[in-house]
Amino acid sequence: MSFLEYAPAPESRSVLNLQSEYGLFINGEFREGSGTSFASINPADETKIAMIAMADEADVDAAVAAARTAFDKTWSKMSGRDRGKYLFRIARIIQERARELAVAESLDNGKPIKESRDVDVPLVAAWFFYYAGWADKLDYAGLGANPKALGVAGQVIPWNFPLLMLAWKVAPALAAGNTVVLKPAETTSLTALLFAEIVQQAGLPAGVVNIVTGAGTTGAALVRHPDVNKVAFTGSTAVGREIAKTIAGSDKSLTLELGGKAANIVFDDAPLDQAIEGIVNGIFFNQGHVCCAGSRLLVQESIHDEVVDRLKTRLQTLRLGDPLDKNTDIGAINSREQLDRIRELSAVGEAEGAERWSPACEIPDNGFWFAPTIFTGVQASHRIAREEVFGPVLSILTFRTPAEAIEKANNTPYGLSAGIWSDKGSRILAVADRLRAGVIWANTFNRFDPASPFGGYKESGYGREGGRHGLAAYLKGASA
Ligand code: NAP
Ligand code: MG
Repeated sequence: MSFLEYAPAPESRSVLNLQSEYGLFINGEFREGSGTSFASINPADETKIAMIAMADEADVDAAVAAARTAFDKTWSKMSGRDRGKYLFRIARIIQERARELAVAESLDNGKPIKESRDVDVPLVAAWFFYYAGWADKLDYAGLGANPKALGVAGQVIPWNFPLLMLAWKVAPALAAGNTVVLKPAETTSLTALLFAEIVQQAGLPAGVVNIVTGAGTTGAALVRHPDVNKVAFTGSTAVGREIAKTIAGSDKSLTLELGGKAANIVFDDAPLDQAIEGIVNGIFFNQGHVCCAGSRLLVQESIHDEVVDRLKTRLQTLRLGDPLDKNTDIGAINSREQLDRIRELSAVGEAEGAERWSPACEIPDNGFWFAPTIFTGVQASHRIAREEVFGPVLSILTFRTPAEAIEKANNTPYGLSAGIWSDKGSRILAVADRLRAGVIWANTFNRFDPASPFGGYKESGYGREGGRHGLAAYLKGASA
């Protein structure tokens, strides 16, 4: 039962002009891959959206060669001011085509249209605008005199924020004067291919941006390619570790943005109405497919029951269903594989003795879906408190003192993000100071800004994306 009945409000797909087949984007043009192709499906109903080329080693080689030539002959010779003009142009085209990009993203990924429309795509444009502004100011970034680009960047991204992760990778790389070969995730190539069209529309010199679609093997071929100078990877810790091994001993630079298991800490003096919204946003935004998701809720013991009660009431109002419906809060899980993993870890949570609860909600017959789920009575040793579920599943633990909250929050192999909810500024600062996490939000969660660096400690990876720090990762000898 839901408290409010809503009439369907589907966003129109007519704004999309998709092709039935997509090739690889190499040297400024789409071309057929030399290997096979695969289907990208809509996770909300399992229908095929388009066939996508699977780039093999020869294709990756061609893309890297195009990027190398573009770097040597045009992009590295161009002034920062001119590079900036191209980036501004890309940013404006993204804004012009925002609705189309949002619909494509929701269709291919399963995320609610209100998130792709109001969060992902505006941030994508913001990222390009921000780094466009840096292109002619590298000398003043405090990263050394006359800083130089690294060369060809090989970039591999995950499926949870397909276009946004592309922007995080491509915008700083181009601003700093590098050329790129990017591999999107197998299940979400579509918006990267629309971005390739935007690159053409912006008149970017051929070979500056190349998109090689494919699977893990395509990513592996890119990472080990001898003519790649810089590898930037966002994805799982397991693959990140493999990549670090592959390029160890080479002179490639590497940044890794990996998994997380963030603590969202709620003290007894927290503004509870806001905290409940922050908890919901922290773990149910994007179906919890968020590396910095607040997946471990640490609640002060004295307010535990009240927080859980309020949270349950709030969760009953979340609407799960058609990602293209403007009222949808929880969309589809991106793939069957991910759904299986969420189911498996949730079953483990129950088996280990935590108490599982979900609001009553109708699950569509086709597609991949998982109801928002909370676990109470979770112990720090439980797998659902330690492993990244990467789904709409919240583990709730308690603490009594600030010291215990800090100890529990830091008791994880990860260190990407954390949240603190308290009325006292002094407490927020004191606790934040002792948390081992790259990003700490206070009385809010999951806020992003292109000017703010993002990245992890420990098994969450190394290097920073965003802000001035994000430029350093693409310049010789620079450290921010
Ligand atoms: P994944 O399996 O590691 O995949 C990430 C990307 O790497 C995909 O494009 C994948 O291709 C490719 N890949 C797979 N094996 C590879 C290999 N051996 N060499 C090179 N590339 C390879 O991760 P995922 O399951 O897609 O994404 C979820 C993970 O990403 C989560 O752990 C999440 O925390 C993390 N994440 C981190 C951040 C951050 O900023 N820290 C942001 C978002 C997500 P295929 O898709 O074709 O397999
Ligand atoms: Mg898809």
